[in-house]
Amino acid sequence: MSHTAEILCVGTEILLGEILNTDAQFLCQELSGLGIDVYYQTVVGDNPERLERAVALARSRSDILITTGGLGPTCDDLTKQTLARCFGKKLVLDPESAQRIRDYFARRLPGSEMPESNLQQAMMPEGCLILRNDWGTAPGCILEGEDCRAIMLPGPPSECRPMFQTHVVPYLQALSQAVILSRSLRVFGMGESAVEALFRAEMDAMTNPTLAPYAKTGEVELRITAKAGSEAEARALIDPVEAHVRAVLGDLVYGADVSGLEEVVLAELRAKGLTFSCAESCTGGLIAKRVTDLPGASAVFKGGAVTYCNQAKAALLGVPQELLDQYGAVSREVALAMAEGARRVFDSDLAVSTTGVAGPDPDDRGNPVGRVFIALATPQGNFCRQVDLGGGRERVRVSAAHHAFDLLRRHLSGLPLELTLPG
Ligand code: ATP
Ligand code: MG
Repeated sequence: MSHTAEILCVGTEILLGEILNTDAQFLCQELSGLGIDVYYQTVVGDNPERLERAVALARSRSDILITTGGLGPTCDDLTKQTLARCFGKKLVLDPESAQRIRDYFARRLPGSEMPESNLQQAMMPEGCLILRNDWGTAPGCILEGEDCRAIMLPGPPSECRPMFQTHVVPYLQALSQAVILSRSLRVFGMGESAVEALFRAEMDAMTNPTLAPYAKTGEVELRITAKAGSEAEARALIDPVEAHVRAVLGDLVYGADVSGLEEVVLAELRAKGLTFSCAESCTGGLIAKRVTDLPGASAVFKGGAVTYCNQAKAALLGVPQELLDQYGAVSREVALAMAEGARRVFDSDLAVSTTGVAGPDPDDRGNPVGRVFIALATPQGNFCRQVDLGGGRERVRVSAAHHAFDLLRRHLSGLPLELTLPG
């Protein structure tokens, strides 16, 4: 049986625009990964009458209702009470939840008295499944009505997310009695709309597995999701689609189920026993940050220099003053000299550099916002890629760092360093 889910976020602060509804975004992404359709998303304030009306409407059109927020101890936390009333259930004290809340307080605030109002969080709708909260105090719960199951999650994303992943994902998987498997192919070097245009007709025609593009900053994720009786069957549905996508996009596909380009680069460097370093101007340390976010970075990353002004480029990396004077900091010549300088200073096998105009204003030599030179220095020779990136300062910087990792990846995999689009 296929299920339709609906998301109902409770919180006046969302309606006031004080916080962004990231819980809904997270839940929609997760549900789509599980192959569960979401047709509606609603936000209601902390108001029991309007919440009741929203629940009634949701039940009339969806068989899974997921709420977030309003499970806490304060008087505006009304979700459980209201949903229990809608489903004709009483609230009863759950002793285990009460003990967990007491323990949580004793651990967090030793010696202080726990406000009794906190025990309200252990009052649960009769007969519900309790979702233990190992990340905060308020437990979540699942109320199973005949027409609809209501899954109540806490509002804080640091609790909502792990609770969903730990308790709700297995519950929903068991419900659909099917294995739902997703594989995420990561694509760098082509925009979302261009990727989508390449596959639009097929995507529309596919039902199982499905193929869907997701835009990420400066790159694209293509997610293949299959539903089948077993994991092996699901994989067998996914494999040919992956092969097809790879055949069409070629080396623009840089990985499957990876966190980003830097993860692929790190693995390749480790496998080959090589090291790299970086010299960053417009990315301001982003390359170094991204690689050092990964465990195991120390085996492959020797260091980075953030050389923002010309003097730093010259003094720390040995970029010749004549090059800076003649071509300006945002130039192929300087990018190459920066990469070469980093390779020498850090004594690494490879080095990458970035220099460009992140914006909002063009530089004094007429380079437009978004122009970035990204260079790679290797024992076999040096290379520089020039790009004109769009989308504002943050996007320019993130994309420039992607390009640096892409150069490393291409060099390490023996691929052409130039980006060529399929077709
Ligand atoms: P608490 O025990 O913290 O009171 P709760 O389940 O009662 O949790 P709320 O009181 O509704 O949740 O919200 C608590 C905080 O969680 C909000 O101030 C906000 O920072 C965050 N939050 C709530 N709902 C959302 C949402 N939909 N998206 C992102 N953050 C949210
Ligand atoms: Mg609250």
